[in-house]
Amino acid sequence: MAPMARVLLAHNYHLPLDPREAKAGKPYPPLGTLVSAAMAEAAGHDLAVYDPMFTPRVETFADALDGHRPARVAILADPHAVAQKMCLTSMREAAFTMIRYAKARGIGVLVAGPDTSDQPAMYRAAGADVVVVGEHDGPLLEWLDGVPHGGILPRRPVLADLSRLPFPAWDRVDMPAYAERWRAKHGAWEMNVSTARGCPYRCNWCAKPTWGRTYHVRPPEHVAAEVRALVSRYGVDRVWFTDDIFAIKPVWLRKYRECIGDTPVPYRCLTRVDLLQDEAYVADLAASGCREVWVGVESGAQHVLDAMDKDCTVAEMRRASGLLRDHGIRRGFFLQLGYPGETYQDVLATARLIRELGPEEIGVTVSYPLPGTPFHDRVKDRLRATNWAAAMDNEVLFESDYPQAFYDAARELIRSEHALIRFQPDLSRQGARRAAGAMYHLCRWPMHRGKLAWQARRARPA
Ligand code: SF4
Repeated sequence: MAPMARVLLAHNYHLPLDPREAKAGKPYPPLGTLVSAAMAEAAGHDLAVYDPMFTPRVETFADALDGHRPARVAILADPHAVAQKMCLTSMREAAFTMIRYAKARGIGVLVAGPDTSDQPAMYRAAGADVVVVGEHDGPLLEWLDGVPHGGILPRRPVLADLSRLPFPAWDRVDMPAYAERWRAKHGAWEMNVSTARGCPYRCNWCAKPTWGRTYHVRPPEHVAAEVRALVSRYGVDRVWFTDDIFAIKPVWLRKYRECIGDTPVPYRCLTRVDLLQDEAYVADLAASGCREVWVGVESGAQHVLDAMDKDCTVAEMRRASGLLRDHGIRRGFFLQLGYPGETYQDVLATARLIRELGPEEIGVTVSYPLPGTPFHDRVKDRLRATNWAAAMDNEVLFESDYPQAFYDAARELIRSEHALIRFQPDLSRQGARRAAGAMYHLCRWPMHRGKLAWQARRARPA
């Protein structure tokens, strides 16, 4: 039986309930929950952490409650996790079930996270005593200290001094289980680290339910120390910087590079093409350990980027892509199909851009109208559904300019072309598998192209 604890900190993300992510096999511990655990520990609370990452059944939470018999439960969806920012209905249902289990046992419940911030009334109706909108650290600690919070707590100013954040309480989760899954599937263990909170940019489809349009960054010395601790304590092989945008300030990156030293820990991160225009900056990325960068390319059509308020140009994409390639950094491009106003010709322009730049990785999704965004406001009268059930469902949730089949064909066409341009023959066993994959895409390419052209005729009347 689990030792009893007065406070149980949990999250609601169950990887087996998210099939695509489960297949990708890249689980990260719940960073936000573990930072909260470290803060609550430091404040002297007797606590345990419930991590259902690998649990297929939400019902096991009831066993955890019966084992620990806590007086209070906080269900903290990780605000750093991309899948949680998508506000998936499967995880929302899991949270509601967890709330019910706790309330049935007379336990006080606080909930927080991206979906909670979007839909606080739903969580309140599901039985949560306290629903936090926005950043949860302050309200959580107050509630644990006995401040009589109740109902929906409105958004407050966010924590500005991130030097006060402790390292996550990694020992509260089963770190070997994460290591084992990563190494079995990818041959190396990658852990998540946050260097900053928030994003100051304004892409109008991007939801910022936790930190809004604020931006605060941790001291580079702290981040470097955390990365080193992951390597020395646990043998982590590389790092995923979870920030919406990594190293916005060149001076921060230069300092991180100095702090991490001459044997940097390899990392992957997200950034923007307009931050990758200066060669010295890209050189600092490479020298500080950056091995792969993901950027939101979204579209090869400038008017679509402008409609998204992306504040980037196709020319900047070309320059960023070239500099990354020249400095040996792998390029991952996010592409977005179906933004209102995008035409068949625009989709072909996106496909052409991918053929031209040849990034090592791509991720293709359809536009997803998240509540609270200008994009959501723009299409709210045409909504057919509000949320995806699982990550990368790629269901178009609103009456779009073309039918769903058009976007399915466009996605498959771009994926096939990408697989073909990245194919390089070699004589290894894996090379044989890759050759078979390329042959598969080559055979299917005409079908996707034909389907796309056919579906393009079914555009919704303007
Ligand atoms: S830069 Fe990225 S995180 Fe920031 S608003 Fe745009 S899409 Fe969102």
